[in-house]
Amino acid sequence: MSNPDILVIGGGIAGLSAAAALANHAHVVVLEAEEQVGYHSSGRSATMLHYALGDRLVRALTLASRPFFDDPPGAFSEVPLGRRMPVLVHAREEEQDALDALHAELAVFAELERLDRAGVHELCPLLKGDAIHGIADRNGIRLDPHALLQGNLRQLRNSGGELRTAARVAAIEYAERVWNVTTEKGDRFSAPILVNAAGSWADEVAKLANVQTLGLQPRRRTIITFDAPTGTRIEGLPFAKTVGDELYFAPESGRLFASPMDEVPSDPCDAQPDELEVALAAHRMEERTIVKVGRIHSRWAGLRTFTPDHRPALDFAVDAPGFFWLAGQGGFGLQTSPAMAAIVESLIVGTPWPVPDVMPANLLAARFFRQPA
Ligand SMILES: Cc1cc2nc3c(=O)[nH]c(=O)nc-3n(C[C@H](O)[C@H](O)[C@H](O)COP(=O)(O)OP(=O)(O)OC[C@H]3O[C@@H](n4cnc5c(N)ncnc54)[C@H](O)[C@@H]3O)c2cc1C
Repeated sequence: MSNPDILVIGGGIAGLSAAAALANHAHVVVLEAEEQVGYHSSGRSATMLHYALGDRLVRALTLASRPFFDDPPGAFSEVPLGRRMPVLVHAREEEQDALDALHAELAVFAELERLDRAGVHELCPLLKGDAIHGIADRNGIRLDPHALLQGNLRQLRNSGGELRTAARVAAIEYAERVWNVTTEKGDRFSAPILVNAAGSWADEVAKLANVQTLGLQPRRRTIITFDAPTGTRIEGLPFAKTVGDELYFAPESGRLFASPMDEVPSDPCDAQPDELEVALAAHRMEERTIVKVGRIHSRWAGLRTFTPDHRPALDFAVDAPGFFWLAGQGGFGLQTSPAMAAIVESLIVGTPWPVPDVMPANLLAARFFRQPA
């Protein structure tokens, strides 16, 4: 039996970053079902930090996370957490209004350049001639999820915290002010605070604990990699996204990757790419660019898990003392992880509120429950 102060369920970016922050104040143990950290969503993302994603709250969390990536603290400074990659949002003539609206929203968060046809094609020569409007943020970051996960793990361990892998939580009960947790293998842990950072499984973990669920919806997204046309200066390419949620692509280890930005509802699972979305990725790539997608070198899928209002939930449960929700990281869990971890630290340990632009009420899990009459 192990008795830490805080138990964290989930060794993805959410659980590990929160655990690393909490370990400065308390004895923290992370329980991860898989053999390695980041096996699910955190290891399958497009790894970008950009602002053309989510709403104002998500953008504020992203902005608040930037200093961490630009100037990482001690345990994270061994390897860079990412590298600069320009972000280009492009539009056809009939999409100009949507681009104008996005430009106005993003201008609060990033220094943007407005591009005409020549500017769009100078930044991304692969786009077809009908991409005639664009906005560019030259300061996007292509994150390194491995460095980020390992940095958090180092920070956790440096502060005396522990990670247990192959430790799938199978039973949870609350008695005498502590959460008693048993893994599939029969190992037992108990702590007064239980952080539910189980990603797509967070509602399943709540059910085990007899806590009201949030109505989380995992949605599958697919990525393929393939060769760029011969002679393409791949490393100079941006992360290029259509103004609507149709397609993004970017350089990937000497090749290109692309996603049709699919959002197929799924149960929590080890997500696998579906042939339909793989074909859609290739089709949209050929529709929007001059690239002919030949052999597909690799393909993968991961789950992006949303709350009903697409904002994350970071809060103690209203119906269970010491049960803390850290869920609904959607498609922005990596780029917002430093700010979210600091918020968890503030709410659990009482450190000063770290994100002045974000109202705590916007993150409370209680917003999903009807108040008693
Ligand atoms: C294709 C794709 C592209 C994306 N692009 C971006 C991007 O460009 N930028 C960005 O910031 N984000 C992006 N995301 C989103 C980002 O990957 C997620 O928001 C983030 O990884 C969620 O982290 P998590 O820790 O909540 O979930 P996960 O990484 O899934 O971690 C949850 C962990 O909980 C564990 N677990 C579940 N149940 C139990 C249990 N009973 N006992 C013990 N452990 C359990 C699981 O094994 C899992 O490891 C993308 C996601 C996808 C799929």
